[in-house]
Amino acid sequence: MSKKPNELSPLHAQAETQFAQVPEKLWKPRPAEELLQELQVYKAELEIQNETLWQAQIELEASHDRYMDLYDFAPVGYLTLTSEALIAEVNLTGAALLGVNRKELLLHRFAHFIAEDYTDNWYLFLGSFLQRDERQSCELVLKHSNGQNFHAHLDCLHIKAGNGEHLVRIAFTDISERKQAEEALSIAAIAFESQEGIMVTDAHGVIQRVNNAFARLSGYSSEEVVGKTPALLSSGRHDKDFFQGMWTALNEQKYWQGEMWNKRKNGKIVADWLTITAVTTLDGNITHYVGIVSDITSNPESLAEIHRLAYYDFLTQLPNRRMLLDRMKQALAASSRSKHYGALLFLDLDNFKNLNDTRGHYIGDLLLVEVARRLNAIVREGDTVARLGGDEFVLMLENLSEDIQEAANQAGLVGKKVCDAIASSYLLEGIELRCTASIGVGLFFGHEASVDELLKHADFAMYHAKKEGRNSVRFFDPEMQATLINRSALESDLHHALERQQLRLYYQIQVGNERHAIGAEALLRWVHPERGLILPEQFIPLAEKTGLILPIGLWVLQTACAQLSDWADNPATSSLQLSLNASALELRQPDFVEQVQRAILVTGINPTLLKIELTESLLIDNVYDTVAKMNALKALGISFSMDDFGTAYSSLAYLKQLPLNQLKIDQSFIRDLGENPSNAALVQAIILMGRTFGLDVIAEGVEDEAQLAFLNLNGCHAYQGYLFSRPLPLAEFEEFVERV
Ligand code: C2E
Ligand code: MG
Ligand code: MG
Repeated sequence: MSKKPNELSPLHAQAETQFAQVPEKLWKPRPAEELLQELQVYKAELEIQNETLWQAQIELEASHDRYMDLYDFAPVGYLTLTSEALIAEVNLTGAALLGVNRKELLLHRFAHFIAEDYTDNWYLFLGSFLQRDERQSCELVLKHSNGQNFHAHLDCLHIKAGNGEHLVRIAFTDISERKQAEEALSIAAIAFESQEGIMVTDAHGVIQRVNNAFARLSGYSSEEVVGKTPALLSSGRHDKDFFQGMWTALNEQKYWQGEMWNKRKNGKIVADWLTITAVTTLDGNITHYVGIVSDITSNPESLAEIHRLAYYDFLTQLPNRRMLLDRMKQALAASSRSKHYGALLFLDLDNFKNLNDTRGHYIGDLLLVEVARRLNAIVREGDTVARLGGDEFVLMLENLSEDIQEAANQAGLVGKKVCDAIASSYLLEGIELRCTASIGVGLFFGHEASVDELLKHADFAMYHAKKEGRNSVRFFDPEMQATLINRSALESDLHHALERQQLRLYYQIQVGNERHAIGAEALLRWVHPERGLILPEQFIPLAEKTGLILPIGLWVLQTACAQLSDWADNPATSSLQLSLNASALELRQPDFVEQVQRAILVTGINPTLLKIELTESLLIDNVYDTVAKMNALKALGISFSMDDFGTAYSSLAYLKQLPLNQLKIDQSFIRDLGENPSNAALVQAIILMGRTFGLDVIAEGVEDEAQLAFLNLNGCHAYQGYLFSRPLPLAEFEEFVERV
């Protein structure tokens, strides 16, 4: 087919049509300025777009940082575990909760951070969690690297990583405080249901809660009292002052305790023992009051029991010291009105401790009960028999004659009767026993002497009766009065003895089998400005009674250590072991070991040259404490000797426990070694016992050659006594050791 002139080819025609559809402004030629203007607008738009992109980039990064901050410092720990339960990721809080550096946690098994007892729980939980596709939580105990475990709550979630791996995301928190609070609550809940009635009010005294015991006690149900005030229970028996006192105490001390008459629902008025404690916030504001009520009148038996326990001796049912003091006060007042004399008889059984030790406490107790019965049988109605404790009893006789001599005769007669009654034989559990008593008597007339003084007088007279051979009655007399006054003067002087530098240490040599000096004992002396040299027997008991033995003992320790340090440079003294005496009171001080340690440190002495002599009275106290202190001192190098050995009843079991180095045979056995065969046997036994326990044995009070020969023959290791030297003042002692 041929193409006609002016006819458009089909392709061209299509292009024409398409072109016709293009807006004119796109093809129509435009002036250059217009185009430039348009370009500038376009460029400006582009710049704006660029800026926005840039902003978006910054914001994106910031939000990532924000996310990381939120993640790391979230108040909970986040962990991501791999499908093998290894830690893939952890936030900073999580690492801090476990106390482990984040890097050290990564790719470690999470189970390592769970307390041993809880790992089974964890695996059980994980097993069930992995099978189900849901969020689950559990509680575990996790380990902190400082060794302290804590309760944790774990929220676990499945997530799928980009590579398709299944991960576990855990959020965990420390719930130890909550756990503790829960435990405290459950304890409180149990305590709340105790046998005592409990009532809780708010700060205005409106009852919030009562327990079952309260409902039982008061007769009101919980519904009847909640919302009311305790005025509901008011008996009307207390005045305004009473309540004012109570509120003052509650406001100031946050605590009040006392007896209160309350009315029960049935109208009965009873005495309750009430303890109120205010509950406060940390800043001291009262939020609640907790009242604990126990009924004391509805149970007359318990009231009587309380009274009995307070005023009577448990074993013998006799009045105790408290009751005696009460009755003495009344008796003095009565004597002052009636002008009649009264008497106090202080009775102490002879050798009771021995009997207790040899026959056992059960028989000892039976004897005390029988003595109480005999005493009660002797006195008249209205007189008092009391037990002060141990084997000490007091009889108080009232309404004796108006004439002092006559009254003394009457009291003396009763004393004699008591002595006879006690001395007649006892049959206890089929065992026939004998026992005697020493009695001291003091008369009283009105308020001439105080209750304390009277007891002291009778006690002192009893002490004289004991000294004069036991089984006898001794009256308190003016001479004793003088001694007592003298003693109290001595006591007040003793308070200044240390600061006035009146104390001295004397030294007595200790020798070995070849009579060569091996050591010395430091013995205390008091150089009194008026009384001259006072021996320890006269003032150590006083020092122990007043507690002055503690500063005095410390002085002895420090002086002895200083002496050892001084002797260290002299060949005649440098190897002497120095013994010092320590009383039970000293050893009982909690810092006794430190005191010795310090004295050694300050003086720089060789601790193996220091020996401490203890007496068996120490064993009466806490043996475990004594052993612990002795061991601590022994570890320093110090040695121990058991002084006056054989005079007290020593339990072998105790002796074995004590880390001793030496037994010191008491001088009383050495003194009549020649005449008394049983003493000789005892000394032999002690030496043998020493050998069995691996202890040295030293004899004290060796005064003659025969004693020394006997001891030497029987294997004694060391000796001390006048045969070698008396205790000497320092200068004389030093001169003496140079010579031997
Ligand atoms: P002790 O520790 O058994 O001391 C031995 C006592 O026997 C000393 O009496 C000593 O002088 C004396 N003596 C030594 N050899 C003989 C002798 O051959 N024949 C006789 N008849 N006696 C001899 P002293 O110095 O009067 O001390 C008496 C007690 O006072 C001591 O008995 C001791 O228990 C205590 N004592 C002494 N110094 C101290 C001290 O610094 N602290 C404490 N807590 N008690 C001390
Ligand atoms: Mg001694
Ligand atoms: Mg001794």
